[in-house]
Amino acid sequence: MDKQAALRVIDEQQDFVIGVSDRIWATPETNFQEKASAKTLCAALRQAGFAVEEGVADIPTAFTGTFGAGRPVIGILGEYDALSGLSQEGGCPEKKPLVEGGHGHGCGHNSLGSGSLAAAIAVKAYLEGTGKSGTVIYFGCPAEEGGSGKAYMARAGLFSGVDIALTWHPMSVNCIASGSCLANYEVAYHFSGIAAHASSAPHLGRSALDAVELMNVGCQFLREHIIPEARIHYAITNAGGISANVVQPEAEVVYLIRAPKIEEVEPIYQRVNDIAKGAALMTGTTLKARFIKGTSNTVPNGVLERVMHENFAALPLPQYTEEERAFAAKLIENFAEGRELHDTAEVYCPEFKEALRSYQAREGVSINNFLLPQVSYDTVSPGSTDVGDVSWVCPVGQVYTACSPATIALHSWAYTACGNTSFAHKGLLLAAKVMAASAIDLLENPDLVEKAQAEHRHQLGGSVYRCPIPEGVSPKLD
Ligand SMILES: [Zn+2]
Repeated sequence: MDKQAALRVIDEQQDFVIGVSDRIWATPETNFQEKASAKTLCAALRQAGFAVEEGVADIPTAFTGTFGAGRPVIGILGEYDALSGLSQEGGCPEKKPLVEGGHGHGCGHNSLGSGSLAAAIAVKAYLEGTGKSGTVIYFGCPAEEGGSGKAYMARAGLFSGVDIALTWHPMSVNCIASGSCLANYEVAYHFSGIAAHASSAPHLGRSALDAVELMNVGCQFLREHIIPEARIHYAITNAGGISANVVQPEAEVVYLIRAPKIEEVEPIYQRVNDIAKGAALMTGTTLKARFIKGTSNTVPNGVLERVMHENFAALPLPQYTEEERAFAAKLIENFAEGRELHDTAEVYCPEFKEALRSYQAREGVSINNFLLPQVSYDTVSPGSTDVGDVSWVCPVGQVYTACSPATIALHSWAYTACGNTSFAHKGLLLAAKVMAASAIDLLENPDLVEKAQAEHRHQLGGSVYRCPIPEGVSPKLD
């Protein structure tokens, strides 16, 4: 069994893996509720010969599937949670929800979980075929969207024995992830006051809604005095009801604070806490803050980026039919609605912009069927992912593959529309091959593992992982 034979296993297993992906696409479940999706993946892992452990890290929809013995231990991260409000008919180029207001796989995590499964199956086949020392662990990671599932799993020590972790994400381009992304905290601030008749006895009332508004005003002024790369978002999740003639006794606002480094989020969070306390003082209300989730910034690893890019470059890219090109053009047109669209990769990494532009000028903009050059850059992408927490514990390599036509953005109805089509199927099989081929290089070359780990230590510069979610805070499972 060599690398090429292991990659052929992915082709042989493609109907099985695509079946898993399409089943998860058809049962979209949001954070920590991914019961059917986790069941589908656990059954598939068992069928493929992995030892499955369910309910790890005290989360019912988190699990592991393990095969092999000894070092190195290669972790492959899978996700399978959906998003609310993104229900959409698959393969339909017009916006057409299957369920009005329902969930949908608008970030392609059905493909993510299944592509990672295919990679794990190929690595298992390689270990079996060669008898080499090594362990492959599929990590079933719930609630990437808004739940920081991996941060809870990291806090529980699940990644501590892992030498290298590999993962991927569906995108509209093919490239290797480089650089870092933002760390964040999400916190709910709940104010309690006293209800009163707003006209006949306002002096007896204490308004929780006033507290929310004053907190927001305070945070607007805070923005000028924090590092420019930081972001503060908010949502009023409870405005105290719909009766204007009642002094609102309860109100809540959720804050999401982002910054390039986790240690830069912490002081901003403390200042937001002070503003919340000030708002409570000003209004005579009481404050209860509830920490919802936190994710760490991603620690990049150039050694793994190079290994993955080399393997990606050696793989043939998918071919697309006339029918697929026609679907792509129609979907892009409907999604744009007259707006100018950009591929997400451009936003993540400005250096990709030039390569994308020159390709698209040559080939048109319907499908990005090429591999972007490897870039090494120090910028921080504006998104956040709980992969960041794993990347503090062990070196992580990430690949992106085109699972949609060009310029179709993640977290959109149009991305859901692609999730059970040949675009997603081709993308997930390609990602599986990049991960499996890279894992095999690592199994064959212990010095590569050592080099990646040495870079990891260098990047951390002596810092140790501290889970951003405080002890005692548990995932919101209901
Ligand atoms: Zn995602």
